[in-house]
Amino acid sequence: MSNIHDLYEAYLASGKVITDTRKLEPESIYFALKGQHFDGNNFAKEALSSGCRLAVVDDERLKNEKGCFWVPNALKMLQNLARYHREKLSIPVIGITGSNGKTTTKELIAAVLKKKYNVWYTQGNLNNHIGVPLTILSMPPQTQVAIIEMGANHIGEIAGLCQIAKPNHGLITNIGKAHLEGFGSFNGVKKGKGELYDFLKKTGGEIFVNVDNPDLLEMLGDYPWIGYGSGSKAVVRAEEISASPMLSFNLTTSRVSGLRINTHLIGKYNKDNVLAAASVAHYFGVEESLVKAALEEYVPKNNRSQFLNTGRNHVILDAYNANPSSMQVALSNFKEMEHPFKVIILGSMKELGEDSKKEHYALLTDLEKLDVEVCFLIGEEFKGIIPANNRFKWYKDTKDLQEALKAASLNNALVLVKGSRANELETVVDFL
Ligand code: ATP
Ligand code: MG
Repeated sequence: MSNIHDLYEAYLASGKVITDTRKLEPESIYFALKGQHFDGNNFAKEALSSGCRLAVVDDERLKNEKGCFWVPNALKMLQNLARYHREKLSIPVIGITGSNGKTTTKELIAAVLKKKYNVWYTQGNLNNHIGVPLTILSMPPQTQVAIIEMGANHIGEIAGLCQIAKPNHGLITNIGKAHLEGFGSFNGVKKGKGELYDFLKKTGGEIFVNVDNPDLLEMLGDYPWIGYGSGSKAVVRAEEISASPMLSFNLTTSRVSGLRINTHLIGKYNKDNVLAAASVAHYFGVEESLVKAALEEYVPKNNRSQFLNTGRNHVILDAYNANPSSMQVALSNFKEMEHPFKVIILGSMKELGEDSKKEHYALLTDLEKLDVEVCFLIGEEFKGIIPANNRFKWYKDTKDLQEALKAASLNNALVLVKGSRANELETVVDFL
């Protein structure tokens, strides 16, 4: 076996690709990837003896080992194989990127399209240079539409992912202040996410866009698009929107008018994600009654915009991630919610680079204006900049906060919990 054609034959016969021997499935192809703390080459023999068909390795010492397919770079080969496979598929591939709401939008699009098609989509958040090729290579043969989430924290990344997934449809959820460290600035984020538009423009792909987002419209220039949002330019519109606390709205398309949709999603900001899904569904000919059913059945998981009743308090759990843009929408949503006893628990925002101090300071300024009983803040980033006000309480980490919550014993409160993943704020729910 010596080239990608041979490897592709082996892949077609196996249909399964793995990178972790702990998730081994017999007959699969094992790719030996390297991480900061591991070298997959060290597990190649184990993979083979446990039933893998083939191990793609890049360690010279395994060059002549039986069952090993040696290449100069196993990760590159994984990406090349995914590209090779993608090029042979003639199905629609929908690429999704943006600063916030990619996973939610992807799950919602999958939910609506599943009503009519065999759909394959990014599992969880596997949206990077390894996750995208794995998503493509694990696609079942009967797949009719694929939805690929593409994440990025630096310039050039989305362009690279587009070369692998070759989307022929796409959408950018929004452009916000996320991953500023890697992108350098807001304009950097625009350029980085805009690489999806660049690819689609060059290849004549279809673009779905939120017509209420001037940044996205500016980036599109005079390229034709399919709009969702509000106003007459949108093919799919939401009207009479309420979020108390669950998002409801009237859906209007070219085929229905004012179809009420009651979701299990919290916050008006989720309207954009839901409309993106309705717009893709409309384009792919999914009937509105099925769209309504799919959107109403969808329940968010994994600490993203979840609404929980702990028996003592009501909690909006949004501990999956945080950045200045998603903090802003979460706070403005919380502000609109009527409740006599509101409490906020915020973890710091990571990956903001040199803007970190400024952005945490701006967040505190917004918080000061909110009518809440108490505000618990966690993380070094808030240290020393918290206003002298006894509503604000600072803790070094989530463990310290847990102790404080035990002592405070909150009852009958509406609590917003939000912060970057690293704070592990979901662990405080047991104390609420
Ligand atoms: P990641 O970059 O980690 O992959 P993502 O873009 O996939 O994130 P989601 O996982 O869908 O985003 O949502 C994460 C959080 O972002 C949500 O819990 C919510 O707080 C916020 N969010 C979701 N949708 C929007 C939106 N349209 N605008 C602003 N914030 C949003
Ligand atoms: Mg995601």
